[in-house]
Amino acid sequence: MKVLVIGGGAREHALCRALSLDPDVTELFCAPGNAGIAQIARTHPVDPLDGTAVADLAVALGAEFVIVGPEAPLVAGVSDAVRGRGIPVFGPSGEAARLEGSKAFAKDVMAAAGVPTARSYLCTDVAEAAEALDAFGAPYVVKDDGLAAGKGVVVTADLQVALDHAASCDRVVIEEYLDGPEVSLFAVTDGVTVVPLQPAQDFKRAYDGDEGPNTGGMGAYSPLPWADPKLVDEVLETVLQPTVDELRRRGTPFSGLLYAGLAITARGVRVIEFNARFGDPETQVVLARLKTPLNGFLYAAATGCLADFPGLRWREGAAVTVVIAAEGYPESPRGGDPVTGLAEAEAEDGTAYVLHAGTRADADGTVLSAGGRVLSVTATGKDIPQARERAYAATARIGLKGSHHRGDIAAKL
Ligand code: AMP
Repeated sequence: MKVLVIGGGAREHALCRALSLDPDVTELFCAPGNAGIAQIARTHPVDPLDGTAVADLAVALGAEFVIVGPEAPLVAGVSDAVRGRGIPVFGPSGEAARLEGSKAFAKDVMAAAGVPTARSYLCTDVAEAAEALDAFGAPYVVKDDGLAAGKGVVVTADLQVALDHAASCDRVVIEEYLDGPEVSLFAVTDGVTVVPLQPAQDFKRAYDGDEGPNTGGMGAYSPLPWADPKLVDEVLETVLQPTVDELRRRGTPFSGLLYAGLAITARGVRVIEFNARFGDPETQVVLARLKTPLNGFLYAAATGCLADFPGLRWREGAAVTVVIAAEGYPESPRGGDPVTGLAEAEAEDGTAYVLHAGTRADADGTVLSAGGRVLSVTATGKDIPQARERAYAATARIGLKGSHHRGDIAAKL
C-alpha cells in the first residue's frame, strides 16, 4: 500500500518509522516531513493546513491511504478534503475534530455523554471569568477555548495571572482544579468500535520538577507501573465509548485517534481534555511498544472495519522518550544550529533511536535545528529504569548549542 503521512514532528517520525517496518507498506510519503523522516519516506513540501494541496498531492502520488498527524490540519478539514477524493483517511472530520478544537464543544459532548470531567464555566468576558475564578478558588485553571498547541492553558495560584490570561482570550473555559497524577490514553476508533492502546504519561512543564512554563511535552514513558490494571477498561467504558457514541448520535462520527488526557483524582478518573490525534511525545513510547503492524490497524479504523480487527499485541518491557528542545523554547526558540551525534546516539540493536521534530537538512546534508522541540530520543528496555538509562545515554551523545532537556523523565514512578 502507498501511504502518505501529513505532518513533520517527532510524532510523525514515530508513525513513519512504524509504517516503514510494516511489510504492507510498499511506498511511504510524508508532507512536509523533516530531516529524519526524509531518511525513511519521500518528503514533499506541502502546506499541511491546505486541504486542497494535500488532496492534490495524495492523488498525484497515487496514495491509497492518508494518515493525518497534527491537530491543526484536522480542525482545518484536511481529512474531509482527502476523503472527498475517495481516499481513506486516518483522522476525524473537521466537525468531529472540534472535540479538540474547542474546549467548550468538548465540555458539551462530555456533559451529554455523562463523561466525568472537571466542573466548568464558559466565559466570554473578564467579569464573567472573574466570577468563575472566585467560585472555584485557587489553584485557578483558565483555558483558551481555541487551539493553542498545548499552550492555551494556564494553571496558577496567582489570581492576577489567571485574570490576565482570561483577558487575552476571546472565550475561556474556567474550571475546577483536578488534583492527581495524569494519564494519556489513546484509542483508535472507526466511529463505532473503540480499541484502547496502552497508557502513557507525558511531562508538560519545561523544567525538572514540573517547573517552568507548559510546553508541547518534554518526555514520556509507558507503561505506567503505578496505574490500576483496570484503568484502561474503566476509561473505555466511562469515557471513550460514551464519547464516540455521542458524536455518532450527533451525526458527526469520530474516526481516528481519540486521546483522553485524564487526571486520577481521589474521587475517581476525570477527563482533563480530549485530543483528536496521536499525542506528542506519548506516541513515541506507545508505538515503540506496539507489536501489531501499524498500517493495517489504522487502515481498519479508516475504513470502518475495526470490529473484525484482531486484538493488539504488545512488546514486553517499557519505553522512555526524552525531548531535546532548542535554546529559548517554549518562549522564543532559536533555530539554524547544527545537531551533532545523531548516528552515535542510535543503538545498534535498535533499543535507542532518535526521532526528529524541528530539524531540516542543509545543502550538504548537515542536520540543523528548525523548531522548538528538535528531537525525541526514544529507548526501550526490560523495564522503565533500563529504558530510561538508555534514553539518557543516547541523549548525552547529542550536541546542540544551547539546547535543554529534562533530567527527570520517568525518574519517579
Ligand atoms: P490541556 O491543554 O487541557 O491538556 O491542559 C494542559 C495541562 O494543564 C494539563 O496536562 C494539566 O497538567 C493542566 N490542566 C488542565 N486542566 C486542568 C485541571 N482542571 N486541573 C489541573 N490541571 C489541569
